[in-house]
Amino acid sequence: MNIILFGPPGAGKGTQAKYLVKKLNGFQVSTGDILRNEIKKDTDIGKKIIDNMNDGKFVNDKIVNSLIEKIIFDPSKKDKLIFDGYPRSISQAKNLENLLKNSNQKVDFIFFLNVNKSTIVKRIEKRKVLEKRSDDELDTILKRYDTYMDTTRPVLDFYNKNSNFYEIDGALKIDQITAKIDAFITV
Ligand code: AMP
Repeated sequence: MNIILFGPPGAGKGTQAKYLVKKLNGFQVSTGDILRNEIKKDTDIGKKIIDNMNDGKFVNDKIVNSLIEKIIFDPSKKDKLIFDGYPRSISQAKNLENLLKNSNQKVDFIFFLNVNKSTIVKRIEKRKVLEKRSDDELDTILKRYDTYMDTTRPVLDFYNKNSNFYEIDGALKIDQITAKIDAFITV
């Protein structure tokens, strides 16, 4: 089963992705984690993306798409993909559609965790203390939210007419969201 978790930064995509990975023996495709790892390991990619990441800006599509492509074509991960943070633009959504088609896969479920701006700001301020992410400062959070509204939210139009698209109130508690996801995937 391949699943996309969609929503603004701080919606809880990562938390639910980790749950689904355990439940379905899946593989979490968190582009944010993959990119942070490149920075941590100080790779050539890491050096190229560090400024954009710290600034809350998108990393260039070529870099993100090539990292994604490797994962999608990895036979050990086929039909086990739990996307968290990808796609983030219409062009990424089109790229994903092509890659899945070319690897004989499809998206089984799309869960949109919908959360408003004030809840996001409160949650990310908390996460800043716990995870110490350099892009969780208030001005960067606000920038990331604006980028979400301008570039990522339009991706909803790409998916929301599909019968496997489900909107969930992302302001609910973690286990309430998990229960809703569980109910949909057993349908
Ligand atoms: P996240 O952990 O999903 O909040 O992502 C953290 C940061 O990684 C984002 O603010 C972007 O700088 C970068 N990033 C993550 N996913 C993508 C993506 N699909 N496209 C471009 N940049 C991304």
